[in-house]
Amino acid sequence: MNLSTENVLVFFRIRLLESITIDLIIMIKKVNNIGVLTSGGDAPGMNAAIRAVVRACSFYELKCFGIYKGYEGLIENEIEELNARSVRNIINKGGTFLKSARSRAFRTTEGRAKAHQNLVEAGIDALVVIGGDGSFTGAMKLYEEYNFPVVGIPATIDNDINGTDYTIGYDTALNTVVDAIDKIRDTASSHNRLFLIEVMGRDAGDIALNAGIGAGAEEILIPEQNLGVERLIDSLKRSKKTGKTSSIIVVAEGDKSGKNIFELGEYVEENLKDYEVRVSVLGHIQRGGSPSCYDRVLGSKLGVGAIDALLKGESNVMIGIVNKKIESVSLEVALTKEREMDQELIRVSDITSI
Ligand code: ATP
Repeated sequence: MNLSTENVLVFFRIRLLESITIDLIIMIKKVNNIGVLTSGGDAPGMNAAIRAVVRACSFYELKCFGIYKGYEGLIENEIEELNARSVRNIINKGGTFLKSARSRAFRTTEGRAKAHQNLVEAGIDALVVIGGDGSFTGAMKLYEEYNFPVVGIPATIDNDINGTDYTIGYDTALNTVVDAIDKIRDTASSHNRLFLIEVMGRDAGDIALNAGIGAGAEEILIPEQNLGVERLIDSLKRSKKTGKTSSIIVVAEGDKSGKNIFELGEYVEENLKDYEVRVSVLGHIQRGGSPSCYDRVLGSKLGVGAIDALLKGESNVMIGIVNKKIESVSLEVALTKEREMDQELIRVSDITSI
C-alpha cells in the first residue's frame, strides 16, 4: 500500500523462535530514480543485465540512469538517463555498453564522497552495481557511509561469489575455454604433444575444473587443491603406459603448485622425456564473445530481480540464483570467501581422466 509517491509501507514477518513471529510494518522512502553501472572485469551477459534493469524500470514507471565507466564515471559524473529503447540490440553483445573500469579514486573516502554527491545531485535514490567482489565491497561502503540503497548483481567469469550458484559470464567463459581446448587438442594429438593450458581463476577453480572435464583434460590443477607436482608426473607416466600419446593439462591461474605455468612446463619436460611440452595461456579471449543463452537469461532474471528487490525496500543485498530461484543475500554474505569446491566434480574428473 502506498502512503504517498514519496513513501511506501513494507511488511516484514520475522521468525524469532519456532513459536514466536513478529510482524513489522515499516515506512520507507519509495525508490523512484535508479542508477546502474558495471564495474571491475567485464563479463559476457552484463549487457543483458543492464537491459533488464532499464526495462524493469520502464515497466514500473521508474527513471533509470546509466553510469558510464563504473565508479570512475560516477566520480566524473558521466551519467545519462536511459529508456527502454536505449538498450535495444545489446543482449547479444559481449562486454558492457556502459563500459567498465577499475577506479582507484573510489577506494578513497574523498572519491566516494564525490560519487555520493553526484548521485544525490542527479536525483538518483538507489544504485544497481553489476560486477564482482571488489565492486560489491565498494557498494557496501556507499551503503555503510551514506546509507545509500545499493543492490549488487554478480557478474564475473570466475564464478567466485558466495550466495549464487552462478555468476553472469561464467557459462560463456566455460564454452569459450572448451572450444579453445578442443582446437588445441587437435594439434596436441597430431604431434604427440603435452599441452599445459592456463585458464582464468585466481582464487576459484570453477572454470578449470568444469572446462577441464568438458574438454576431456588428463589433469586439472586448481587453487583449492595442491596435490603436488610429483603426483602430476606420476599420473602422466601412468597415462603414457596405458597408451596415451598426447595430453591436455588445464591449470587455473591461481594454482598452488608453487610454479608458474612456464616453470611447470619446463619441470614436466625434464621429468617426462617422451613428450614435447607446449604452454598456452588463454588470457583475455575468455572474457569476450557473444554471451551464451544461459548468461542472457541469467542476466535478464537478475536485472529484473534487482529492481523487484529495491521496490520491496531491500538494500545492501546481492541478487543471486540458488537452485534455480532468484534470491537475495546480504552483500556481506556474498563477500564471504569460504566457498566449497564441488568434491563430486573432482571425483568425476579423477575417474574420467584415467
Ligand atoms: P572481477 O571479479 O571481474 O575482477 P571485481 O568487481 O572484483 O570484478 P575489482 O577491480 O576488484 O573488480 O573492483 C572493481 C572496483 O570496485 C575497483 O576498481 C574499485 O573502484 C572498487 N573497489 C574494490 N575494492 C574496494 C574497496 N575495498 N573499497 C572501495 N572500493 C572498492
